[in-house]
Amino acid sequence: MRVAIQGARGSFSEAAVQRAWPTAVLIPCRNVTEVIRVVRKGRADAGCLPMDNTLAGVIRPAYDLMHEAFSDRDLRLTREVILPIHHTVAAPPGVGLSEITHVHSHPVALEQCGLWLGQHLSGATLVPEWDTAGSAEEVVRSGDRFRAAICARSAAEHWGLAVLEERIEDDPTNQTRFLLFQRSSPTIETEERETGEPWKTSIVVWTEHRAGLLSAVLQAFAGRGVNLTNLQSRPEPSAPWSYRFYMDVEGHEADPGVADALEAIESLVSRRVVLGSYRSGEPGSETGDGPAPVVPAERHGPRLPLFDRRHHPEGTVVMVGSVTIGGPEPVVIAGPCSVEDREMILRVAEAVRQAGGHLLRGGAFKPRTSPYAFQGLGVPALRYLAEARERTGLPVVTEVLSWEDVPLMARYADMLQVGARNMQNFSLLRAAGRSGKPILLKRGAGATIEEWLHAAEYILAQGNPNVVLCERGIRTFERATRHTLDLNAVALVRERSHLPVIADPSHASGLRSIVPALVRASIAAGAHGVMVEVHPDPDRAVSDGEQSLDVETFRAVMTGWQGGLSGVGCPCS
Ligand code: PEP
Ligand code: MN
Repeated sequence: MRVAIQGARGSFSEAAVQRAWPTAVLIPCRNVTEVIRVVRKGRADAGCLPMDNTLAGVIRPAYDLMHEAFSDRDLRLTREVILPIHHTVAAPPGVGLSEITHVHSHPVALEQCGLWLGQHLSGATLVPEWDTAGSAEEVVRSGDRFRAAICARSAAEHWGLAVLEERIEDDPTNQTRFLLFQRSSPTIETEERETGEPWKTSIVVWTEHRAGLLSAVLQAFAGRGVNLTNLQSRPEPSAPWSYRFYMDVEGHEADPGVADALEAIESLVSRRVVLGSYRSGEPGSETGDGPAPVVPAERHGPRLPLFDRRHHPEGTVVMVGSVTIGGPEPVVIAGPCSVEDREMILRVAEAVRQAGGHLLRGGAFKPRTSPYAFQGLGVPALRYLAEARERTGLPVVTEVLSWEDVPLMARYADMLQVGARNMQNFSLLRAAGRSGKPILLKRGAGATIEEWLHAAEYILAQGNPNVVLCERGIRTFERATRHTLDLNAVALVRERSHLPVIADPSHASGLRSIVPALVRASIAAGAHGVMVEVHPDPDRAVSDGEQSLDVETFRAVMTGWQGGLSGVGCPCS
């Protein structure tokens, strides 16, 4: 195989190619433009492009050429190599460091050794060269004994220079990422991929200047669980102040998530070029043998859905902090609909703890029917909830409204709630699945049991087994109550799924007077617990006051609870 590289013998590009193809015949080129031309013309089978350095950042030339060179799909990226980079300073034998007047190297290498140069050769003139190994050659050709080169040890030895000092890069972890490319061929397109092998895809997109457009492009990948590993913007010379965006994402372009995202962004971008999919490289290894990535549950779907009880006939137990949901003891999650202020949530938390509740609930971001209604205090509420947890020891559950907020909420909450309105928000379900937190999945008011269980499947399929289902009432013809608590669903879900299921009589009924009776009914139907709204002064609550219990009644419910769930302060008992 003939491979075009930028640089002379002993260059880092040579080492990168040898990593991927140890027997390759190298064709040295002056710059990356020539590397691309040589491969396009068929004088080489492949080419090597230096892309990024961990100290100096992007290596611009390839970034500024690839979008045009690869746009007709004649060339494809096929391999990534990540190489540890150690620089030496080398000069003709017999010369001391203090005698050096000029230092030659590639500008990116001079940048990587800036600290050392400042300390040891601050008076020397820095001379940019086309290549690190080429700078060793230049030093020899100049015949000037007081010139030094910064290059790899192998290049210094190749050109007969003496190494004055080694490992002069600003940080010992210094690495450069190279991309290797080939002319398209059916062999490349159909290259076998082994399960679990890490791949990447590089894409260039052009977007118009419109609010949120780039973020929508990124969301197309994020929402499908496709991780972004690199994002660069480069100016578009022919259109001042507009930019091309280079993105590297994890996965092959034929993988369902990547393929879907590529299709989804078509309507968002003005132009899009896929540069290729390639095995990712890991530092210090041959390409592709890095740590195996976490593979989400089987791509084509398991034979039995993951929620199916036959997977765990004994039932799943979900731990939230030290609280067990799904065991023999029913759990009580209690707290206000919304966190209204710090004092209020601290007060309710203390009351919930004293009454024997197990988890504290409270909305920080509220899904409201009207955009003008109180939308929650937001981040301050998360901080108050965290303080309430610290004071009472009660783990905290709060609702997350969108996938972008998942990392933030996961920092504060012990359990994330996906609300009824979002039950089929699949990007949110996937993000919740990847959050590492237990998820409380409420049933949509118009969702069938089947749809609800399949929403849970989205979370389970991301490798998160900690899902608790919550029946919170469905919409029926009956208007006397807000919704209708579907206890059929509680009993049936216990048969069909191993996941714990709880009930939320507050949202189901919308009437505080019947909440205690529905608590008992839920437990009788097999619920592993209940969630109830509790407020210090329900008539003044900013949201859902009519269904919230006051502290007194909540205490009565809990007393009845401990006494075997009978006569718990309900007018109809
Ligand atoms: C809530 O728990 O405060 C809530 C909004 O619930 P749901 O999603 O069930 O309406
Ligand atoms: Mn509510």
